[in-house]
Amino acid sequence: MKTLLKGGTVVSGTGLRRADVLMENEKISRISRHLEGADRVVDVSGCLLFPGFIDAHTHFDLDVAGTTTSDDFYTGSRAALRGGTTTVIDFACPNKGDSLHDGLDLWHQKADGKAFCDYGFHMTIDDWNEGIRAELPDMFAAGISSFKMYMTYPAMMIGDRDMYWALKELRRLGGIVGVHCENAGVIDGMIAERKAAGKLSPASHPVTRPPYLEAEAVSRLLRIAQAADTPVVIVHLTNREALREVEAARKRGQTVYVETCPQYLLLDESVYFHDEFSAAARYVCAPPLREKAEQPYLWKALRKGAIQTVSTDHCSFTLEQKAMGREDFTKIPGGLPGVETRGELIYSYGVAKKRISAAQMCKALCENPARLYGLYPRKGLLRRGSDADIVVYDPGASHIIRSEDCIANVDYNPYEGFVTSGGIRQVWLRGRLSVESGRVLVQEPQGQYMARGKRSL
Ligand SMILES: [Zn+2]
Repeated sequence: MKTLLKGGTVVSGTGLRRADVLMENEKISRISRHLEGADRVVDVSGCLLFPGFIDAHTHFDLDVAGTTTSDDFYTGSRAALRGGTTTVIDFACPNKGDSLHDGLDLWHQKADGKAFCDYGFHMTIDDWNEGIRAELPDMFAAGISSFKMYMTYPAMMIGDRDMYWALKELRRLGGIVGVHCENAGVIDGMIAERKAAGKLSPASHPVTRPPYLEAEAVSRLLRIAQAADTPVVIVHLTNREALREVEAARKRGQTVYVETCPQYLLLDESVYFHDEFSAAARYVCAPPLREKAEQPYLWKALRKGAIQTVSTDHCSFTLEQKAMGREDFTKIPGGLPGVETRGELIYSYGVAKKRISAAQMCKALCENPARLYGLYPRKGLLRRGSDADIVVYDPGASHIIRSEDCIANVDYNPYEGFVTSGGIRQVWLRGRLSVESGRVLVQEPQGQYMARGKRSL
C-alpha cells in the first residue's frame, strides 16, 4: 500500500521545501515536487511536515522517592504519540546494586508490547566497578549507545573519580554520557538549613538549588570530561551561568552537547511562591524552574545552535503523589509531565514567535537527537529510506492546552491555559496514520524497540 501526502511543505534542519511524500512499507519511498500513483492520497496542503519528533529524555514507570511515576510506557508513549513524538529514549535504571543487564531486562519488561511509539533506552550508571565495566560491550551490542550519570541525589550520584574512569571507558567504546549537573553537597547543606529553620514549603525548593550550583557542576563535569578527553551531554540545562561554562569548554576545544526542556524555556520559578501547596508543589522538579530572565538566554542559545536538543524530562506524578511532601518540600516527588505538549509548545512559543525557525525546531526535536543518539538516518529526517514517521503540522490551527483534553496519566498540566499557534493535525508512525486531530487512532501498542548505533553529531 502506497500512501501519498500531497501538497505539504517538508521541514528539515536546513530549511523548508514544497514536496509530496510517498510512503510504502513503513518507509519513505520518494519525496519530490509532484508525485502521483498512490493507493491513498492525503491532502496536506498548507501544512508543515516534520520528521516524527524524538524525545530523548523521558522517565516512564520509574520508582522515585517511595512512589512510581504516574505514566508507564503504555500511557506515556500514547501521550507522546498524540504530541507528535514517534520515538522516545527512556532512562533504564537498574535497582541499586543490580547489574546493567538487570536494568536492561527490567526496562524491556516495562516497555515491550506496551509502547505506542518507538523507543530506546539510555542506561544509568550509578556505580563504577569491574563488573559494570565488563558489562558495557554487551550494552552496545543490545543497542544502548548512551548512558546517564548523576552528580546529585545521594542514591544515584557517582563521584568525580568514578565519573572520570567511566567517561574514559565509554570514550574507548564510542559511547556518550548525559549528566545531571547539580552540586550535591552544598544543596544538601542548604536543605538542612531550611529544614532546621522550619521552612518546609515548596518555596524552599528553588532556594536550595540555585542556578550557580548547577553551573558549578557543569564546570566540574566539563573539567572531568577534559581530563577524560571525551564529549559529554549536559541534560536539562536551565540557565545562563551554566551556558557560560559550556562556552568556556568549547573555547578550550571540547565537544559539549546541551539539552534544555520546554519548562525552562516557558515557565519560571514564581510558581513555587504560591501560597497554596498544590499550586506550587506540582512544579517541583530538579533542576528547578528559574527566573524568567533566564529564558531569553536559552532561546538565544537554541537559535545559535549552542543548545542542540529540546527534550522533556517527562516524569509525571499526580497531585496526590505531590502531596507526599505537604509537610516537607524534600518529599515532593520531583518531575513534570511534558511529553504530550512539547512539539506544539516549541512551535507556538519558538517558531511562531520568531525566536527560532522551523528548521531550528526540526534540528532540536528531530535531527540532532537522532544524530546524537545513533538513530540517524532511520529517524530524524524525511528522506527516501527513512522511517515514515511524520508530523503533519497545521500552522493555521490553534487551541488552548487543557489538562482535561490531555491523555497522559496525570491530573494537571504545567502549561494549562497556554494558547498554541498551529496544531498537530496528523501523526504517522512508520507509515501508519496513528493520530488525527488529537485522537489516537491506534488501539494497540505498535512501538518497536530501537537498537541504536553510534553518535553522528
Ligand atoms: Zn531526567
